[in-house]
Amino acid sequence: MATRLQHFINGELVDGLSERYSDVYDPATGRVTARVPLATGTELHEAVSAAREAFPGWSGMTPLRRARVLSTFKDLLERNAAELATLISAEHGKTHSDALGEVTRGIEVVEFACGGPHLLKGEVSENIGSSIDSHSLRQPLGVVAGITPFNFPAMVALWMFPVALVCGNTFVLKPSERDPSAAIFLAKLLQQAGLPAGVFNVVHGDKEAVDAIVEHPDIQAVSFVGSTPIARSIYAKGAANGKRVQALGGAKNHMVIMPDADLDKAADALMGAAYGAAGERCMAISIAVAVGDAVADALVSRLAPRVSALKIGPGDDPEAQMGPLVSRAHRDNVKGYVDLGVAEGARLVVDGRTFQMQQPGYEQGFYLGASLFDHVTPDMRIYQDEIFGPVLGVVRVQSYKEAVVLINAHQYGNGTAIFTRDGDSARMFAHEIQVGMVGINVPIPVPMAFHSFGGWKNSLFGDHHMHGPEGVRFYTRLKTVTSRWLSGIGSGADFVMPTMK
Ligand code: NAD
Repeated sequence: MATRLQHFINGELVDGLSERYSDVYDPATGRVTARVPLATGTELHEAVSAAREAFPGWSGMTPLRRARVLSTFKDLLERNAAELATLISAEHGKTHSDALGEVTRGIEVVEFACGGPHLLKGEVSENIGSSIDSHSLRQPLGVVAGITPFNFPAMVALWMFPVALVCGNTFVLKPSERDPSAAIFLAKLLQQAGLPAGVFNVVHGDKEAVDAIVEHPDIQAVSFVGSTPIARSIYAKGAANGKRVQALGGAKNHMVIMPDADLDKAADALMGAAYGAAGERCMAISIAVAVGDAVADALVSRLAPRVSALKIGPGDDPEAQMGPLVSRAHRDNVKGYVDLGVAEGARLVVDGRTFQMQQPGYEQGFYLGASLFDHVTPDMRIYQDEIFGPVLGVVRVQSYKEAVVLINAHQYGNGTAIFTRDGDSARMFAHEIQVGMVGINVPIPVPMAFHSFGGWKNSLFGDHHMHGPEGVRFYTRLKTVTSRWLSGIGSGADFVMPTMK
C-alpha cells in the first residue's frame, strides 16, 4: 500500500486541498511506495501566510538564540543521519553510503550557520564627519522560498534553509516531487529542535506550486536548484516580480588529464566522479579531456575493465558501487543518449545498455549499466547536452591550450578539474578557466560549507552562490546608518550636498 504524504505547514502535517497526486517510486524495485500531493496556490498561500506571521517573532529573536536552535537541529541530524540516508536511498536510488555522504555535507552547512551571530556582524566607521559615526548591518529579507531537485533531496535543501533561518528569515521549501520524504523528515527534526511553528514549511508540488512561489507578493527571495531551462525561467519570472533570485542550473563537467598526470590516480578519480550516484550529480565528471593520444589510449585501457566490472545493485546493498537511476523515464532518456552517441560516431568502449538486474525482486528497478565513450567530439550532442547518468565520454585534444579553449566554449560552467603534477599548468588552469568551481587533482571540487557553491554561465542565473559568505549576503539586506549626536550638530540649515568638513 502506497503511503499518502502530507505537506508541513505552520508546524503541522496537512493533506491540502489538491486532487492531484504524483507517484513516488522505489527505484531499486520499480514499485510505487508513496503518493505525494501536488499543491495548488491555496496550500502555498497558507504556507506563506504562516511564514509571514512567524517572521516578526523569529527575526526579533537574538541571533544567538536562533543559532542555538540550529545547533540542536545539527545534533538531531547527526543522531538521525542513518535513518535519513535510508529514506533518501529508498526514493532516489543512490547507495546508502553515498546518501550518508550527502547528509554529512548538509550537516556541515548547519554547522556553518551555527556561527550566525558572528556572520551577521556589521561594520563600523567612527568619526566619518565631525561627531558623526557610521555603521552597516545586515537584516533578514522576510519570507524566502527554496525549490530543490531530486538528486540531493536533503543536501540541497540544507544548502539553503540553515543560512536563511539563522539570518532571521522564515522559509517555504518546495522539494522535488520525485523524492519528497527527506524534506518532511528535516521539518520534523527542526520542530523537535525547538523551531517555532511557521518558521519552516514544506509544500509539495510541481510547476503549479513553483509558479505560485515566483508570483507570490509576500515571498522576497527564491533559491532554486535544478535543470537549466527551469533555472533560467525562474530567474526571469522571479526577477520580473521583484524578487531576489539565485537559480543554479545544469552542468557538463570536464576533467583534463595532462601527460604528466599520475594516470592510475586519474583513472581512480574518474571512476568515482563519473559513475558515483549513477552520474546523477551536478558535479559529476561526464567528460574526460585527454591531452595527447597516448594519454587517451592509456586512460581508456585503464578505465574499460573497471567500468565493465562496476557493481550495480539496490541502494541498501553494501557491496553496490552504483544504484539505479531515479525513474524509468530518466533511465530510458540516458539509454537514448547512448544510442545517440553510437549514431553520432563516438566509439562505445563499454555498453551499459545491455545490463540486466538479476537479483530476485529487483528485475523491474530502473537500472542501467555504466557506459564509456571514446573519440567524443564537440559537435556531438552527447558532448553538448547534460546526460545526468552513468555515461563518461573521452575527448582527445593535442594540447593544454586546446583543452582550455574547449571547456571555456561550453555552455555550462559548474565544475571542472585538472590532473597534473605541474604547478604552472595547475595555476594557469585555475586562473583562466571559465568555470565556478575548480579542482586541482580533485575530481569533484565541491566547496566546504564556509566557502560558497555555484557555477558560471548556464549553470547559474543570479549574482550569489549558495551557502558560505555568499549565502549570508543573499538572505540579508544591507542597511547603513549614519549617526550624529547633539554635541556635533551645528545651527542653521545647510543646502549643499553634505561633505566631510
Ligand atoms: P528539474 O529542473 O526537473 O526540477 C527541479 C525543481 O523544479 C523541482 O522541484 C521540480 O518540481 C521543479 N520543476 C520541474 N519542472 C518544472 C517546471 N516546468 N516549472 C517549474 N518548476 C519545475 O531538475 P531535476 O531533474 O530535479 O534535477 C536535476 C537537475 O538539477 C540537473 O540538471 C542537475 O545538473 C541540476 N542540479 C544542479 C545543481 C547545481 O548546483 N548547479 C545541483 C543539483 C542539481
